Amino acid sequence: MQTNFDEITGRKKFFDNVNKELNKLIDPATGKVKADLVEQVNCPNCEANSYDPLFVKQGFDFVRCKNCNLVYVTPRLLESATLAYYGDAPNQESMVDWLNVLANPTNQAWQIPYFQEAVDILAKLIPANGKILDIGCSIGLFMEIAQKSGFECVGLEPEPKSREYALNRGLDVRPQLFNDAGLPPASFDAITMFGVLEHLSKPKQMLADIWNTLKPGGVVMVIVPNVYSFANGTLHEQARTFTGRNHLSYFAWDTLSDLFKRSGYEVAHLDTTLAGLDAVLNHWQFNDPHTSLSLDLLPPKMRALLQDPEGRAKFEKFIRDWDMGLRLRLAARKPK
Ligand SMILES: [Zn+2]
Repeated sequence: MQTNFDEITGRKKFFDNVNKELNKLIDPATGKVKADLVEQVNCPNCEANSYDPLFVKQGFDFVRCKNCNLVYVTPRLLESATLAYYGDAPNQESMVDWLNVLANPTNQAWQIPYFQEAVDILAKLIPANGKILDIGCSIGLFMEIAQKSGFECVGLEPEPKSREYALNRGLDVRPQLFNDAGLPPASFDAITMFGVLEHLSKPKQMLADIWNTLKPGGVVMVIVPNVYSFANGTLHEQARTFTGRNHLSYFAWDTLSDLFKRSGYEVAHLDTTLAGLDAVLNHWQFNDPHTSLSLDLLPPKMRALLQDPEGRAKFEKFIRDWDMGLRLRLAARKPK
């Protein structure tokens, strides 16, 4: 069992640099993000403007909509501030670090089964050899795996370094954002967005934009953080998922379904994946959740079970069976 995932994959360096970048946005007088960089927003799902505050993290307020229960960030960074900030993204230390994480073999070791499962879910819903558009395809790992299963894939990735990596592996990856890509109507059997929706200022608009590009009966599949995962429910604001600059909406079982239904899609698959156990086990023992995993202070029976790969697998299965996985996976169909 590897015990130092964050160090090995380069995640620790990535998050250290992100934290340095975030500190520059904070007004020391208020402890919040500088007022001229932010705007108040309504609920990205239902447009209501009535919420309960949950917590403040790194200068950002996390709230829950009183109408539809979506967890979101408000006020949030102005799009102009985000763009100015990401303007030299390719040279930004955290971006380079993140690419190192993505290309790292230890990281790919969990990503390969993760994407294979997504391919297997899609394979039950769309025709064999169907055509898939992967929006925000990053280094193209999902596309590679889907192509091995017989699907034809096109990817969109505006970030140049990830795109270059994917192109070098012979994948059809284009630099445009979706609305600038000029894709013909009804040209794809499936559109996938993994780790995309939670970043968007207007997730519902994205679901409307892709509608015409999907074939009638076609499927949209997304993977997003699960706000009520075992890890988030235990760690709350200490969970890494909560990052007010990057993740704007935090979906749960109901709010994610609701978003798709409001946009005219029919939900065809919904479950969770990834246990996220290490951070919880550290936190359980009052240790820093994001340090190397230690089992020393756990009750002996629990420790013995977690040291045994079969015991650990049982715990992880329990988390998934109870829909407490780290990520939600939803596939929804455009009616014929
Ligand atoms: Zn709402």
